[in-house]
This record gives sequence, structure tokens and C-alpha cells, in this order.
Amino acid sequence: MNILDLEFKELENFIKEAGQPGFRASQLYGWIAKGVTEPEDMRNVPKAFWETEGLKELRAELPDVVTTQHSEDGTVKCLLRMKDGCSVEAVFMKYKYGNSICISSQAGCRMGCAFCASGMNGLERDLTPGEMYGEILAVEKETGEKISHIVVMGTGEPFDNYENLSKFIRIINDPKGRNLGMRNITVSTCGLVPVIERFGDDFPQVNLAISLHAADSRERSEIMPVNRAYPLEELIEACRRYTEKTGRRITFEYTLIKDVNDDKKHLDKLSDLLKGMLCHVNLIPLNEVKEKSFRSGTRERAQEFRDALENRGIPATVRRELGSDIDAACGQLRAKK
Ligand code: SF4
Repeated sequence: MNILDLEFKELENFIKEAGQPGFRASQLYGWIAKGVTEPEDMRNVPKAFWETEGLKELRAELPDVVTTQHSEDGTVKCLLRMKDGCSVEAVFMKYKYGNSICISSQAGCRMGCAFCASGMNGLERDLTPGEMYGEILAVEKETGEKISHIVVMGTGEPFDNYENLSKFIRIINDPKGRNLGMRNITVSTCGLVPVIERFGDDFPQVNLAISLHAADSRERSEIMPVNRAYPLEELIEACRRYTEKTGRRITFEYTLIKDVNDDKKHLDKLSDLLKGMLCHVNLIPLNEVKEKSFRSGTRERAQEFRDALENRGIPATVRRELGSDIDAACGQLRAKK
């Protein structure tokens, strides 16, 4: 039984059922939020508690850190191994506003995006809420730094593991524990349309990012198979409904791939598609993956693209290239191992 998998009420009930006082749940939640996960380090929880029948298996389980890569800019990429041996990546990044972590929501991915290393071997399995929380705690332990912002944009499609993702968000948002603000969390989807609506209802304060990468439905289907199930028009319609309902701005991630989606005709289509929407475009120079034929354009091209979008009234930025001296593309480290 991994405490990190439990919402506060679940933990409290579990403890009470074993005949121990419910306030121990607050103590455990509080310690874990501070990164204290070993029973002997939780100073106000007696040894007898952990030896109670029914609680002997109750522990905070963190993944093992198998490998780390440190970039000169402070980015740290970690390969983490779960209890059953499956591995995922998490990336720690430093920004002016605080420390951020990009976590994985699944081991592998079944979405099959053509340019991505994470989905190359398909989906291994979903991660539990506690395993996602464990990524944060393990990386904090490894780096010695406190994390204030979370981006669910690593390996996996978070909306393909929605129940566990939702529970994870509720656990880390709980004021009795980690108390991480909803606005400090960003979830990125490749476009599972039915879940976008649900997410807007369940978590209107959490930031939503859409991996767009093409503004023409046929071209998008070529690089992102999800578009065959949920075509671009339906996706944009769902995004419009989301912004109307929540009043929140959506970030569209657009990875610039040389000669695939980065010329003037693509720019025109992208600006027509997003005209008048409450949104922001994040242009990402492609992190090349050795096994794939896609190539990155120049940073200058990305800046031209950004300027052109801005001139057409669409807010856009070029993502800072963090960790460019390590295996920065998502899934590369896991694939290597
Ligand atoms: S880009 Fe994201 S959704 Fe697409 S295959 Fe990679 S991990 Fe999955």
C-alpha cells in the first residue's frame, strides 16, 4: 500500500480501520509534502504505529533514480524505475518564476506521434497517482531543490490515464499535504476531445496545453494518428468550448519540423485556425531523435514564425532550449536504457 496513492480521506479511513487515531493521516500527509518519506524520520509518529496489524505494509514508495543527466543550464533529466521495473523520465528545470518538473503519466505511450521517441515501443502501462507524485519527490531528493510548478508533458498521454491523473491532481493540491496550487499545474494532451470537456469541468484552474503541431487536418493525421479519431476541426471546437466555459487561455504547442510544418503556407493555416481564440502558441524547435528522419529548423526560423504570428495578433513565444547538451527529447533516455 503506497501512501502516495491515497487521497487524505482514504488514508484517514485506512488508519482508523486499523484502530489507530485519524490524526496520524495529517502527520503523514504533512511529512510527505516536505519530502520526508521514511517512517523513522517522521519524528512524531511512533514506531508502534508502523507495526500495527493492517499498517505494516503502509509506506511511501518512491521510484529509484537509475540515471541522471545534468545540463549546464541547471536542467536535470532523471530516469526513474518503478517497483515493478518499468521506467519513466522526469525533467527538472529552473525558471525565473521557480523550479518546474515535467513528469510522465504513463510508461510508454500508444498515441504513436511520428516524431516522438516516447511512443516508439507503444504503451507499457499507466502510472498510478502515487507514482506520479513519487516522480516529484524522487527528483526533489536527487536535486536537493523544491519544486513549485508541475507540467504533465513527459512520456504518455495524460488524458489516456484520466482517472489516475485526476486523483494525482487532487492529492498534490490538498492543503493538508503538498498544497500545490491548481494554477501551478499544466496538463498537455495530444487531443483526446471527449476528455477536454471533462477536464474543463473538473479542473477549471489547471492550465491546459494542446500538442497541435499541424494546422491542416490531413497533415496532422500524417504525424499524429490521434487526429484520425479526433480531427482538427473537432479539436478546435472543443478548445473553443473550453475557453468559453473556463475563461482560461489555452497553450498550443507547435513543434517546428523542417520542411514538414514550418513554411509560409503552414503559418497562414495556423493563424487562420487560431484567429480570435484565447490562446498562446509555444513554438518548440524539434529535439531530433536519432531513429526518426525528422529534422529541426533553425532558431531564426522559429523566431520568424513567432514574429509573423504576433503580427497577426496571435501571442507566441519560442520555447527556451533547456538541456540541449543532454538527451533532451522526451523518451530518449528511456529508449537508450
Ligand atoms: S508526443 Fe506525447 S502523445 Fe505523442 S507519442 Fe509522444 S508521448 Fe505520446
